[in-house]
Amino acid sequence: MDIHEYQAKELLAEFGVPIPKGGLAYSPEQAAYRAREIGGERWVVKAQVHSGGRGKAGGIKLCADSHAVWHAADELLGKRLVTAQSGARGRLVHRLYVEEAKALAREVYLGFVLDRVSERIMVVASAAGGMEIEEIARERPETIVRAVVEPAVGMQAFQAREIAFKLGFDGSLLADAVKTILGCYRAFRDLDATMVEINPLAVTAEGRLLALDAKMAFDDNALFRRPQISELRDKSQEDPRETRAADRGLAYVGLEGQIGCIINGAGLAMATLDMIKLAGGEPANFLDIGGGATPERVTKAFNLVLSDERVETILVNIFAGINRCDWVAEGVVQAYHNAKVDVPLIVRLAGTNVEEGRGILAHSGLPIITAESLAEAAELAVGAWKRNPGQRRQPREIH
Ligand code: GDP
Ligand code: MN
Repeated sequence: MDIHEYQAKELLAEFGVPIPKGGLAYSPEQAAYRAREIGGERWVVKAQVHSGGRGKAGGIKLCADSHAVWHAADELLGKRLVTAQSGARGRLVHRLYVEEAKALAREVYLGFVLDRVSERIMVVASAAGGMEIEEIARERPETIVRAVVEPAVGMQAFQAREIAFKLGFDGSLLADAVKTILGCYRAFRDLDATMVEINPLAVTAEGRLLALDAKMAFDDNALFRRPQISELRDKSQEDPRETRAADRGLAYVGLEGQIGCIINGAGLAMATLDMIKLAGGEPANFLDIGGGATPERVTKAFNLVLSDERVETILVNIFAGINRCDWVAEGVVQAYHNAKVDVPLIVRLAGTNVEEGRGILAHSGLPIITAESLAEAAELAVGAWKRNPGQRRQPREIH
């Protein structure tokens, strides 16, 4: 789960990370009021969306007076901000964060990630701050500093000092940088984060260290024990298809194509997406309905897939190991009626009781196209879609 910049800053501040004075605003009036309340001479008005690269997309506005703050807020609120990370539909801006703007002397990058290879928390830092880490990796790879934290002992002060040193901090800034690095690490560990990123961590013209931007992501599987983090969830920033799926306990990832997929098993689902692409089509989603493909679950899956207006054909691919194909086939027939399927439906069944399963589909009287192999299923699905492409259905309410 991702959270907003202002939320990450509030959390990190509790761990001793220095942040600028700021305030949240939902209207231009409130933004101008915040600027006066914060004081100072210049302000930044920052769109709160779950995406980086806001600066380049026009989501960060530097303002010299409260009038400019009002106008910046007026321009940003209600807009969908399209960034390099957001996808073409962008993210809706309905909260702003107003901060005092400082003149900057330096900007560095400080990130914490869960490294799957070493199975450790890893610090990734660079003296070349301000740019995105992908950009730094491309253009200034020699500036990247990495350090792995040993879980048995946690991050050690000497490690933090070494990183701070490599980032070019010395004198009184060194102590502040060490405190910031250790604070981020503790926040990461104590809050079950999967990512903490401060970019830029800046040195102001007056010589103060400040986290100007902050991003945090959390482990969804640990949210049950972090109620204060769960409450920070902003569903308006998520793909509505994925929110609906999560609410129904289905493993779903929204994609941009037209062929909706209902599959059991993540590996089989990925193989199916590959086969659809190989056959010249584009999948609309990844969906693993899991082992127990009961009629209720299959109906839920159909409803979810059909609620996406991109979907113009559905491919069901079930391998029944623990399950039975006749049971799955009955589920598909029931779901066909319950979910009022109105697009071509291709079903491939394999495994236990496959003949009985195919028999049920064949005798259902429904226009279901059946396939024997995965490759055939993908070709039939792409073929069915190509015969009638671009036929956008009405988005449906989901039950
Ligand atoms: P991002 O584009 O989504 O990563 O948003 P950031 O919060 O990082 O803002 C983009 C850029 O705006 C930063 O890299 C800074 O260079 C600049 N910026 C943000 N806050 C301030 C500030 O208080 N003073 C100055 N001078 N620049 C700022
Ligand atoms: Mn940033």
